[in-house]
Amino acid sequence: MKVGIIGAGAAGLTAAYELGKFGHQVTVYERSPFIGGQASTFELNGARLERGYHHLFTGDNYILDLIREIGLENRLRYIDSTVGTFCNGRIHDFVTASDLLKFSPLNFLDRIRLGLVALRLRRTHDWNQFENVTAEDWILKNAGKEVYSRFWEPMLRGKFGDDYYQQVGMAWVWGKMHTRFASRKGIFGREKLVYPIGSFGEIFDVLADKILEQGGEIRSSFSVDAIESGVNNGLIGLKLSPSPSSWTSPEPLKSSPVEDPLKQRSVVRPKENKCQFDAVVSTVSSSAFAKMAPHLPVSYKSKLTGVKYLSAVLVILVLDRPLSDVYWLNVADRSIPFVGVIEQTNLIDSGHYAGKHIVYLSNYVSTSNRLYKLRKYELLSEYLPHLKKINPLFKASWVQDSYYHKVDVAQPIVGVNYSQSIPSHRTPVKGLYLANTTQVYPEDRGTNYSVRMGKIVAQMLRQDLE
Ligand SMILES: Cc1cc2nc3c(=O)[nH]c(=O)nc-3n(C[C@H](O)[C@H](O)[C@H](O)COP(=O)(O)OP(=O)(O)OC[C@H]3O[C@@H](n4cnc5c(N)ncnc54)[C@H](O)[C@@H]3O)c2cc1C
Repeated sequence: MKVGIIGAGAAGLTAAYELGKFGHQVTVYERSPFIGGQASTFELNGARLERGYHHLFTGDNYILDLIREIGLENRLRYIDSTVGTFCNGRIHDFVTASDLLKFSPLNFLDRIRLGLVALRLRRTHDWNQFENVTAEDWILKNAGKEVYSRFWEPMLRGKFGDDYYQQVGMAWVWGKMHTRFASRKGIFGREKLVYPIGSFGEIFDVLADKILEQGGEIRSSFSVDAIESGVNNGLIGLKLSPSPSSWTSPEPLKSSPVEDPLKQRSVVRPKENKCQFDAVVSTVSSSAFAKMAPHLPVSYKSKLTGVKYLSAVLVILVLDRPLSDVYWLNVADRSIPFVGVIEQTNLIDSGHYAGKHIVYLSNYVSTSNRLYKLRKYELLSEYLPHLKKINPLFKASWVQDSYYHKVDVAQPIVGVNYSQSIPSHRTPVKGLYLANTTQVYPEDRGTNYSVRMGKIVAQMLRQDLE
């Protein structure tokens, strides 16, 4: 069977690989000149770095199994994570459970409350009880105002922005906590993270090679503009057009990191602007999918258009020395205009990046937010002075280089009763499937779950074709 796949991110490539195993003839269309989608990489100092920070948890079994299957197990590094929260003018470590007892912004009783709530979430296996309550209401009721406002609120605000953090459902928090608990050994153990040392880009490259070996095709820099159903005996048509790089920033990146990883492989760039398939899997955002397939019934389309997304705005600094000794720093200080400081070289040794220290400054914002509209140099001049709060010795002269990336539709807003608004993978159009990050629940979206979805949809499609 001929299967068209829209999007060469983790979900699209996995679906293509799984279908290729069974002899289906797949063609993957990717509008960017590179593969990997949100987890794609660019070249930096002789290494490859994710455009947005990425790691795996030890329980991310779907992607870890895939990595093993394609022969990259020896590239996985298991590393103790270092997590901190910046508030009241200093970094508070959150590495082990005992750090919680030292979290001075809370009084002793509230620290105990925070710990008990975490323990309760860890021990609760049925997330359905959290479906119809917001995280704010549940935490306020169960842990109190201080615990919420000093610990949880800054985290929710960081992930969902000022506009949406109060709408987030408690089931999402449960999902997030369970993924993290699963990456710890016991209640008092340290969290371990996993990083593929050749970067996530290496995983996608090897996966792409496998797809090509199976006889599949990957066509980058090609955008699917429309999906037409009911053509020629129930085939599904795709309207295509060559696309400029559209994934990242409006500003060109400094060096030339947008290398086409498929350049060396015999990748066909299609001349035709229409193709027909027995089945199509789309992995693009729900909003983009609704525009591509306007003929979908209203009941299904309303689920696609009902979901809201935030964009990730990322500034990457290349420093000549470390900024802190923490990998993941949540910023719970509202005078600072970014919410996360992720120091990659506190996860992977700076030697890997020619001795430079790599720091991401991150924000999740809606497209109407002022920060979304700022240009790289404007963000830099707004952000850099605040780094002195995190490390008083910091000087702008430490910054040797910088990059800027913007990822639209990066984070779906997961509100209460979210399960009822998730569109099914099988769309009402026969042979047309959807697998995107809005369908990941109650876990937070992540490469592991996109791999899971890619597998599920490939299996569904095979069953239906049979
Ligand atoms: C800043 C940031 C940090 C993250 N950190 C982590 C992490 O630490 N660990 C983790 O596991 N996950 C992390 N994630 C999430 C993870 O990257 C995503 O969940 C995952 O990569 C999504 O894969 P996907 O294939 O479902 O979607 P995508 O990666 O979005 O793939 C969809 C693809 O479709 C393409 N496309 C869109 N429109 C068209 C069109 N019209 N025609 C053709 N192609 C099109 C896009 O270019 C894209 O390549 C992070 C995400 C962000 C933004």
